[in-house]
Amino acid sequence: MSTPLKITRLDANQVDFKQHLDALLAWEGVSDKSVNERVEEIIAAVRERGDAALVEYTARFDGLQVNSMADLILDRARLELALERITPEQRTALEVAAERVRIYHEHQTQPSWRYTEADGTVLGQQITPLDRAGLYVPGGKASYPSSVIMNAVPAKVAGVPEVVMVVPTPRGEINELVLAAACLAGVDRVFTIGGAQAVAALAYGTESVPRVDKIVGPGNIYVATAKRAVFGQVGIDMIAGPSEILVICDGQTDPDWIAMDLFSQAEHDEDAQSILLSPDAAFLDAVEASLNKLLDSLERADMVRISLENRGALIKVDSLEHACEISNRIAPEHLELSVADPDALLPAIRHAGAIFMGRFTPEALGDYCAGPNHVLPTSGTARFSSPLGVYDFQKRSSVIFCSPEGASELAKTASVLARGESLTAHARSAEYRIKPQ
Ligand code: NAD
Repeated sequence: MSTPLKITRLDANQVDFKQHLDALLAWEGVSDKSVNERVEEIIAAVRERGDAALVEYTARFDGLQVNSMADLILDRARLELALERITPEQRTALEVAAERVRIYHEHQTQPSWRYTEADGTVLGQQITPLDRAGLYVPGGKASYPSSVIMNAVPAKVAGVPEVVMVVPTPRGEINELVLAAACLAGVDRVFTIGGAQAVAALAYGTESVPRVDKIVGPGNIYVATAKRAVFGQVGIDMIAGPSEILVICDGQTDPDWIAMDLFSQAEHDEDAQSILLSPDAAFLDAVEASLNKLLDSLERADMVRISLENRGALIKVDSLEHACEISNRIAPEHLELSVADPDALLPAIRHAGAIFMGRFTPEALGDYCAGPNHVLPTSGTARFSSPLGVYDFQKRSSVIFCSPEGASELAKTASVLARGESLTAHARSAEYRIKPQ
């Protein structure tokens, strides 16, 4: 057995608990001057030289030499070929996941609405999809077919006519599973470009890459920095921090299960965060023993150890209600309520990206195929933001239709307010609509 895991143990009643918790939660998004400068340079080059810059950067950063941009475009026929190339088992898994994600997101669609006032004035809200969405799929170190489904399916359910995907293919290595997922999720076109140059191409357009209205999807520091830089020119989804899980357990779940649920976040990233809250001190001991017993069986054991030792914690609380209070302070991305009656705790949870109810709902199911989106607010932002969904790919327009009677009445109010703001044209524009007595 390797050296025992040094995971933080805390008691929520210890005097300095708040300081310990704050230190554990502190995470500064990396803001590196040299990365910012490089990204600005890349964006400027793509704006100036379009496809030629994309071809050059793809050779430089992805080790992929091509003659022209045409070699970096994959059409629907190529995506369909990928679906043929994967194993039947993989195809079924992708189909099940895509279908479940589609059905869940169909529940999020919002209808346009209107109501009519007594004088015939009609007020309403019209919902329209974005014309074109751009999806960034990371491809530098690993591939994420589940990301393709989670980002593209809500766009299609929202009615976005064109979904364009970018994914780097280092040294030309194409991941068929990613393309197959794109095919099933309804992606229209794929460009095998990545990094800041791909984000710039989506934001500004090039000869080959169409300009999109919003860019969604995760990526490394270059991608995140570029998304931040082009925000305003296009919409973006969010800048995600490291992944997090908070488990609240009554002490009655198998400690091995809870240990594996904590590992499942820790294996994402060295900065990922896994925290367990329980009122049962003996159970916390049992989970710590399970963590030590199971750690070496993981492919990414080294990363998991770093993540758990840096940012993991096992915390003794007074009660499950006390655990909910602490959870609200953390506002975790993923919250597991591994208790006998999760419904009893649910009303007490105010801030969480996704809530996994009961002992049989590990977060891993939500990551892939339960149906809800796995793109969730991180780093406490669940206090004010929500999972990616259909509404991120739609806009609302206000609709106002005044009848002559309605206009005449409203104009009197508008005129007074406009004159109060010294906006004479506003006032007179309204007054023209007042019916002569
Ligand atoms: P990536 O596609 O994000 O980045 C690869 C690109 O980075 C390359 O194509 C290149 O253009 C650019 N790049 C690399 N080195 C560069 C340099 N020195 N200068 C300029 N550009 C450079 O793939 P990745 O690197 O594997 O990163 C993926 C990230 O996405 C990881 O951090 C992973 O944790 C994250 N991720 C997050 C989620 C989520 O849901 N939050 C899901 C999947 C992946």
